[in-house]
Amino acid sequence: MSTNNSEATTLHAESRLVGCSSDEEPGAKPLVFSQNEIPNQLVSPRSIEFMRRYFPLTTTESWNDWKWQLRNAYTGIEDLRKIMKLSDKEVMAINNLKGRLPLRITPYFASLIYKSKYSDPLRRNVVPVVEELLQHNTEQPDPLHEQSFSPVRGIVHRYPDRVLFTVTQVCSSYCRYCTRSHSVGRLDKLGRQDFEKAFAYIESHKEVRDVLISGGDPLTLSDETLDFILSRIRAIEHVEMIRIGTRVPVVLPQRITDNLIGILRKYHPLFLSLHFSHPDEITTECINACNKLADGGFPLGSQTVLLKGINDNIPVMKDLMHRLLRMRVRPYYLYQCDLIPGSGHFRTTVKKGLEIIKGLRGYTSGYAVPTFVVDAPGGGGKIPLLPDYVVEHDDDRIVLRNYKGELCEYPEK
Ligand code: SF4
Repeated sequence: MSTNNSEATTLHAESRLVGCSSDEEPGAKPLVFSQNEIPNQLVSPRSIEFMRRYFPLTTTESWNDWKWQLRNAYTGIEDLRKIMKLSDKEVMAINNLKGRLPLRITPYFASLIYKSKYSDPLRRNVVPVVEELLQHNTEQPDPLHEQSFSPVRGIVHRYPDRVLFTVTQVCSSYCRYCTRSHSVGRLDKLGRQDFEKAFAYIESHKEVRDVLISGGDPLTLSDETLDFILSRIRAIEHVEMIRIGTRVPVVLPQRITDNLIGILRKYHPLFLSLHFSHPDEITTECINACNKLADGGFPLGSQTVLLKGINDNIPVMKDLMHRLLRMRVRPYYLYQCDLIPGSGHFRTTVKKGLEIIKGLRGYTSGYAVPTFVVDAPGGGGKIPLLPDYVVEHDDDRIVLRNYKGELCEYPEK
């Protein structure tokens, strides 16, 4: 779905609302609104049109209630058919999802795709197609071997000084290329004892200074549960920083409430890694959610999976990175798509990722260039990749190629 004019106008208006000066008015004084003039939750004209059509009895208060969004998520073919025309490939895929990553789309995200074509990038993120049922022989259910690095349920300890803590298997919408498609969407919740064992593991491993809370999506948990988990981790003396990995600002921006911000603020330094895949995800609602997080003092980074037909070209990727920076989200990682079953239609070559990095580095701000990584199949960890900038290197000198292809030399002695 390409951004239409009215959406673009709204985005522009939004950037002025939060005090950015306009591109068209160099030197213009920014419009600064006091914090209490900024609407707490936004409902865009697009969402209102969708609500009126499909939830005529619903109020904007309900629409902005994240629990209402979860309760009313689209999880089956009949519900989805009421709002959009499905292709044969989509119908066949949805009818054969048993035992696979489920279908789940929040009404908010549905409002972004219900008028879309089959090839729409946002639609492809959440609506399965029949290719997803095909498994290539290089693909594995757990390509990063997370289970073999898991000393206790919920913990993955792969790197020396940090652990991943998967606190839930639930997401508000399921991405069809999810690395953890083997486990997310299942009902096997961690119990109280599992949590205690996970806290005890972190406590007994003094080398762990960084805990990444992920899932599923941790922000689908209640405020109380999040508060409990964060307080227990923060109480561990050697844990210096906590990170939360989430896609909520994209698929359920209503979840970023003042109450949630108040809870998260108790646990600084707390970083958020936000998952984006396409510039059209950055709507007024998403900008509002990210602004709240940035104003809460949380360093925000983005993670993007390189996806064929969705974001595998330089203009789309550059646009995404620029829009992220405009809302104070620093591009962090660009991932080569993992070898999960049924991901063949999403995967590009690694060469394509390198081409994209080459098309960004030097041509835009360094802040807008994420690190391109391959998460090594078999559990070797993230390996960063760069285009070939080193031409020759010996004890005397290094010959380098700059972004324009020009050669330069730097002495080693
Ligand atoms: S939000 Fe993250 S964990 Fe959930 S389906 Fe998407 S990629 Fe997987």
